[in-house]
Amino acid sequence: METILVIAHTETDGSLAKPALEAIAASRNITGTLIVGLIGTDTQKAANQIAGCGAAKFLTVTGPEFSQPRYATDAAAAEAICKAANATIIIVPHTSRWGRVAAGVAARLSGRADTHVTAISATGVTRWYYRQRMEAVLTRTQRPWLIALDPGCVAPLECAAGSATTTPVTVSVTAPRTQVTGIKALEASQQTIRPDAKLLFVAGAGWTKKQADGQTHVPEAAEIILGFLNASKASLGSSKSLVDISGEGGAVLPFMSHLNQVGQTGSTPRHPKGLSTCCHGEEPHTVGWRFINERRAISLDPNCGWSRGKADVLYVADAFAVMRKVNSLLVK
Ligand SMILES: Cc1cc2nc3c(=O)[nH]c(=O)nc-3n(C[C@H](O)[C@H](O)[C@H](O)COP(=O)(O)OP(=O)(O)OC[C@H]3O[C@@H](n4cnc5c(N)ncnc54)[C@H](O)[C@@H]3O)c2cc1C
Repeated sequence: METILVIAHTETDGSLAKPALEAIAASRNITGTLIVGLIGTDTQKAANQIAGCGAAKFLTVTGPEFSQPRYATDAAAAEAICKAANATIIIVPHTSRWGRVAAGVAARLSGRADTHVTAISATGVTRWYYRQRMEAVLTRTQRPWLIALDPGCVAPLECAAGSATTTPVTVSVTAPRTQVTGIKALEASQQTIRPDAKLLFVAGAGWTKKQADGQTHVPEAAEIILGFLNASKASLGSSKSLVDISGEGGAVLPFMSHLNQVGQTGSTPRHPKGLSTCCHGEEPHTVGWRFINERRAISLDPNCGWSRGKADVLYVADAFAVMRKVNSLLVK
């Protein structure tokens, strides 16, 4: 019988975020005793939030020094909880914070770690290889086995809140050298990557190319794209050609960066729907659409990659005209 430990950090308001709830939900696919480990300034609120999750125990590492994302304190807290739980399977959400410490914690416990896991079942864990082209199911005999589950792959836990009894775990940390002094982030209105959005809107290099009148219309392209994003709350993706243009000194969309790039050398986002515009739909790009369920594209080229089985619907049309019309309908 496995002892399954799910560890999560609390948010600044003391609650648990969606990736943590997904990790707990996924743990239910394995038979064993569930223990939940919570780390943060205050862990009681989070324990109460998931009081009805079926955990046999809530182990907590609590204190202001555990609120900041920092290798030394995160790894020490996780190690102490794993030892206290005597866990054989450890599940964490694969956020950037957990991704940083997962391998180190497994090494401290003489265990093994698997990251970017997309599903957990009684027969093993699933993950993708070779830029999401091959899917494998892995099993391991080594224990403890630390599994980092990618966010967005599993429906988050839904359970009754209540009043949970927690067991504190003591961790001694020497004064950490690293201090997080602040976070520099885009304003919410400028934040174009929205992992929870229902729609992925992809812009291709065509938006910056000469149009039928022999001129480029980059400022207008920027206005149309931002207008659509603001009205629809879609997440913005890009082709590689478009984000590379900035490096070549070409006219660029100021809100676009390499972080938006979708594809073989970019990201593989998960959204229920996708709309590609002014993009050719070549294989190195569309491989990043692996997890987009419903795909539509607008391209002037009837022979583009989208028409060759990559999209469910291709509109052979001028994306400037189509999106202008869509925006006017959305505003209404
Ligand atoms: C090793 C390797 C890795 C790569 N990795 C990636 C990757 O991760 N992601 C990625 O995107 N690419 C990647 N590429 C590049 C990829 O092969 C393509 O070159 C790139 O995706 C093309 O971008 P694009 O379709 O935006 O531009 P283009 O090929 O220039 O296509 C522009 C399209 O816009 C259309 N268009 C122009 N004006 C309009 C209009 N008004 N309305 C509608 N349509 C219009 C044109 O008809 C054309 O089809 C990789 C390539 C290699 C070799």
